[in-house]
Amino acid sequence: MGRPRIWCAAAIVGAVILSGCAVTKPVVATPAGPSTVPPVTALPASPASAFPDTAGPTGTAGPTGTTAPLDPTSSLDPTSPLDPTDAAPPGDSSPLSVPGYPSTDAYPPSATPDPSASPTATPSATPKPTPPKPIPAQPKGPYNCAKQKCIALTFDDGPSRYTPRLLDILKQYNVHATFFVVGREAEARPQTIARMVKEGHVVGNHSYSHPEFWKLDAASIKSQITRTSAIIKKASGKQPILMRPPYGESNPTVRSIEAQLGMAQVLWSVDPLDWKVKDEKTVAANVLKAAKPGAIVLSHDLYPTTIRAYTEIIPKLQAEGYVFVTVPQLVKSLKSGTSYSQR
Ligand SMILES: [Zn+2]
Repeated sequence: MGRPRIWCAAAIVGAVILSGCAVTKPVVATPAGPSTVPPVTALPASPASAFPDTAGPTGTAGPTGTTAPLDPTSSLDPTSPLDPTDAAPPGDSSPLSVPGYPSTDAYPPSATPDPSASPTATPSATPKPTPPKPIPAQPKGPYNCAKQKCIALTFDDGPSRYTPRLLDILKQYNVHATFFVVGREAEARPQTIARMVKEGHVVGNHSYSHPEFWKLDAASIKSQITRTSAIIKKASGKQPILMRPPYGESNPTVRSIEAQLGMAQVLWSVDPLDWKVKDEKTVAANVLKAAKPGAIVLSHDLYPTTIRAYTEIIPKLQAEGYVFVTVPQLVKSLKSGTSYSQR
């Protein structure tokens, strides 16, 4: 890497030359390729069909006063090609960073420029791979959340092409989570839904197409829920009993329909804003700072940054004595038509 760097330093005049410098620089952390990244696409004309997982148009807040958004630039773009095999993105040979696994952590390209990619970077600035560590798997339940420091991880808006990686990570730690899946994504990846249930996770309903419920009449809301429940049941054999309305937007109509359908509403108490920050360190810091026994943590299994964050969050919370549980394990005696945001 020495020669190109010297050339760069000598030629560091003018944007054109700098550009040439970058091109000839040895590749240090080449991203897996644009095709592996959730495409950033223009929003469809109608916000209701655009999957904007920001708060509602009136700025409806989540239970903690923060928004619970689907990023409109996320992989939930309905025009993006779906990966029916749920395989890793083509060309993606770089695993997410999991203790015990080698990791180049070079995927996907970060919004923040990688200092190692700078023409003036020194070799010492290159991130070193995390040395493999033993994975402290969580002891098997049952858990007593009245006495133990229980916390529930919940993941919305998937399953996405990245969800299998998250499932791998959770499996390594023997951690079970609760997934609030979008019906049309579940329809495209039924094998991921089946795997979730098979591996002990709980699958909840997050509507069929992630609309803003306040814009829909009661019949349409009910249809969004029943259609998705049927997809989950078909894929996994289990009828979902948990419902999280898109954006956490709830009202008496929504709760009434959930009650009719025998479903409990689950919101959250910790929101790391992973959809917004898209940086694993910040996501991890946000969760670690806000975690408390009985919390329900919101995240989105749409972003590699979020998924990588959990490789830091899980062992750190485990070291603090937390056990990870599903929402039904956290909240005993869930009642249909009732809303829960923590234990
Ligand atoms: Zn959502």
